[in-house]
Amino acid sequence: AEKKVSQKADSENLRSPICCIMGHVDAGKTKLLDCIRGTNVQENEAGGITQQIGATYFPAEILKDKTRELKPDAALKVPGLLIIDTPGHESFINLRSRGSGLCDIAILVVDIMDGLKPQTVESLKLLKMRKTPFIVALNKVDRLYGWKTCQNAPFVKAKNQQCKDVQNEFNKRLTEIIGNFKEQGWNSDLYYKIKNKDMGETISIVPTSAISGEGIPDMLLLLVKWCQKTMVDKLTYSEKLQCTVLEVKASEGDGTTIDVVLVNGVLHEGDQIVVCGMQGPIVTTIRALSTPHPMKELRVKGTYLHHKEIKAAQFIKIAAQDLKHAIAGTNIFVVGPDDDLEVIKKLTMGDKKTVMDRTDKT
Ligand code: GDP
Repeated sequence: AEKKVSQKADSENLRSPICCIMGHVDAGKTKLLDCIRGTNVQENEAGGITQQIGATYFPAEILKDKTRELKPDAALKVPGLLIIDTPGHESFINLRSRGSGLCDIAILVVDIMDGLKPQTVESLKLLKMRKTPFIVALNKVDRLYGWKTCQNAPFVKAKNQQCKDVQNEFNKRLTEIIGNFKEQGWNSDLYYKIKNKDMGETISIVPTSAISGEGIPDMLLLLVKWCQKTMVDKLTYSEKLQCTVLEVKASEGDGTTIDVVLVNGVLHEGDQIVVCGMQGPIVTTIRALSTPHPMKELRVKGTYLHHKEIKAAQFIKIAAQDLKHAIAGTNIFVVGPDDDLEVIKKLTMGDKKTVMDRTDKT
């Protein structure tokens, strides 16, 4: 009973869940995000941008709007959803492990025409190792022969409009894929067939199309509902800073910047921070904090939103001096008025060995 009370009291101050999207190359990770954002990153991929980590922030109003047709029974309590898109190529396993480690929840994308592929199995292992809850987006349902498009419709509504052959084909492929998951040691089923008590034990499968949007409302609603139901404690906003460097980038004009995930706490322009560096702790001052516009991609060149202050959870670009030797995967610290800089420097460097060891192993 005590737990219930604390959950209720806290529910007003939740941070956005951080969601990571994984899966075999070409399963449709980028396209799914494009579909929700209404952007076209996937077709501009020639520039190689999906070989970097990307992130998109979906504010609550957008989530509300996109899930309206499903008439959600519970109120939306999270301020938004931050989706991090990690590169899908084999050599990026390190980045991917870091990505999934930070995530509250993940979407594993599986192509309904292809089933489980080597990277899907690898992602499953990572998710299990990191104990990250996840859902499966069974993507490309529009490729089932004879599929009738129902633009952005909830999945059940779309399925009911298909002819018998398409429904049979869908069921056949679904059964096969459920069998494949079983071989990997996981129970799975269509998300709406899973009883509440089995959530988390049985993988929820959400059929989607990233081209015509069927099932997207279901996917978004399931993510938010699941987070709100099972992660209230973890998602309660806390002032204690948790901020991880994802990438160190030399960018024109700004010198070196770092892309970070702010999991908890708040950052301000002018904050003194300590970053873990190859040659020791880097003590510097935040010159600028910027994020992409909501619903836009970090990797697409364009205008950024600048912030004097920014609260978790967000994906942020930090500009400051001397960041060249910052180490991705480590946490940064803010030096408060009462803090001992030497103590913080030690704390910061504590991450170096952990991150380096992990990089060696994978
Ligand atoms: P990623 O490597 O997982 O990011 O996959 P992409 O998003 O780049 O998609 C790979 C290819 O599959 C592209 O040609 C997409 O247009 C296509 N694709 C992705 N999702 C769908 C879908 O739901 N339906 C269909 N028909 N094609 C899709």
